[in-house]
Amino acid sequence: MFNFDFSYLSLPKKFYSLTKPDLNPAAKVFILNDEICNKFNFTSNDKQKLISFLCSDLNHKKSYAQAYAGHQFGHFTNLGDGRAIIVGEHINLDNKRFDIQLKGGGLTKYSRNGDGKATLSSMLKEYLFSEVMHYLNISSSRSLAVIKTGDVINRNIKEYGSILVRIMKSHIRVGTFEYASYFGSSDDLKKITSYSINRLYPEIIKFDNPTLALLDLVMHKQIDLVVDWMRVGFIHGVMNTDNTSISAESFDYGPCAFINAYDPEKVYSSIDHNSRYAFGNQSRVLKWNILRFAEALLPIIDQSKDKSIQLAEAIINKFDKVWEEKYYDMMLKKIGLDSNDILLYPLVDELLLLMKKLKLDYTNTFYLLYQDNLDVNQISNNTNFIQWYKKWKTNVLKKKTLKEAKEIMKKHNPIFIARNHLVEEAIAKAVNGNVEPYNKLLGLLSNPYQHRNGHEKFLRPPTQKYEECFQTYCGT
Ligand code: AMP
Ligand code: MG
Repeated sequence: MFNFDFSYLSLPKKFYSLTKPDLNPAAKVFILNDEICNKFNFTSNDKQKLISFLCSDLNHKKSYAQAYAGHQFGHFTNLGDGRAIIVGEHINLDNKRFDIQLKGGGLTKYSRNGDGKATLSSMLKEYLFSEVMHYLNISSSRSLAVIKTGDVINRNIKEYGSILVRIMKSHIRVGTFEYASYFGSSDDLKKITSYSINRLYPEIIKFDNPTLALLDLVMHKQIDLVVDWMRVGFIHGVMNTDNTSISAESFDYGPCAFINAYDPEKVYSSIDHNSRYAFGNQSRVLKWNILRFAEALLPIIDQSKDKSIQLAEAIINKFDKVWEEKYYDMMLKKIGLDSNDILLYPLVDELLLLMKKLKLDYTNTFYLLYQDNLDVNQISNNTNFIQWYKKWKTNVLKKKTLKEAKEIMKKHNPIFIARNHLVEEAIAKAVNGNVEPYNKLLGLLSNPYQHRNGHEKFLRPPTQKYEECFQTYCGT
């Protein structure tokens, strides 16, 4: 089933704690990912085999929870996997390594006041979002299964306990480096740095300064990732440094959501009182997180502190320019233009301004634009929009045919997104035993760029009242 290795255990002991997951043999697989099962050579008929494997003490001699720290909402905290246990690093036939992690797998050394568990509803949300992001062609953790543990756990109300079997290229995060830098020696920091480079970016091993190259690469890859979030209207909701992965995979889907009406100030998370993680603030937060990464690396970038600062600053100083280029490149593709020309940037800004003013649905506006079906939308009569539309068409026709532009738009604009009201409804029904709506939603979102008749309900945003009241919770 799995071909496990435990390379993380070659790091100094302070980076992990050997931990057995707490899984009851009475646990049942609630959702199993057939596509991923195939990769592990087992089928959906082998559900019990998966549980037996995960329950077997024999397989837990080396399972571990990772230590890390991190800035949460701007404040530094010592953390670690409070409820996640890596049961092994699977090496696939292509020699690629993936952490197989049980989220909600029980108490660890780092659980602090938590119970080490996870609720069924929150793990169903994480499963759904990780798969949705993957099918939107955005780098993400994947989910092999949601297990219903048979426990009842205390939150605001009693909830079913559950475990998410999560797969990532690695769970090393900016917070892992902060932990090494704050609580370890420079040798520890060097060890996690070279381990990360060997595991994730072997192409930079031979660079003059691989540590600096790592900072540069992670910055670029994280920018690509967050630009992609902006493309589909995704708000992560808790972009803390412990949720910023070095492998640039989206993960830890807590209070995340997709926006409906375009609004850069939009926040859904009930705990984000200062709008730190608002939709339009994600680039600034990312830069802040990458700065923390740079700070953590300073002791080993160069022997001279001043030189380290100077070298790191030279990289961070590129952030705004790189972001701007990548962001507009992506936004221009959303309107069918694949040449990144600074003179075209106002075309993007003007459209977004109009969308904000008219409270237009982010996903549907781009979809209707490439369908030339704006009559169904309130913008078609708006004089500012008519002017913008003319300008847009003229600019497109300078470079290509409208048909070619629409092909580009089709690739970059999803039709179906995980709208909050649909997600909430499907999860509530699944928790109560009816998984059909959840599976239907997942099926639809597994092909988000393809229109299908008869699914108009899934295109519609919620009512304004729902949207105004809707909040997401960490709901752990
Ligand atoms: P998250 O918000 O899921 O990224 O979690 C932040 C930190 O809290 C991580 O260190 C988690 O492992 C920890 N944590 C979250 N929920 C629990 C829980 N129920 N029990 C123990 N630790 C938890
Ligand atoms: Mg986290």
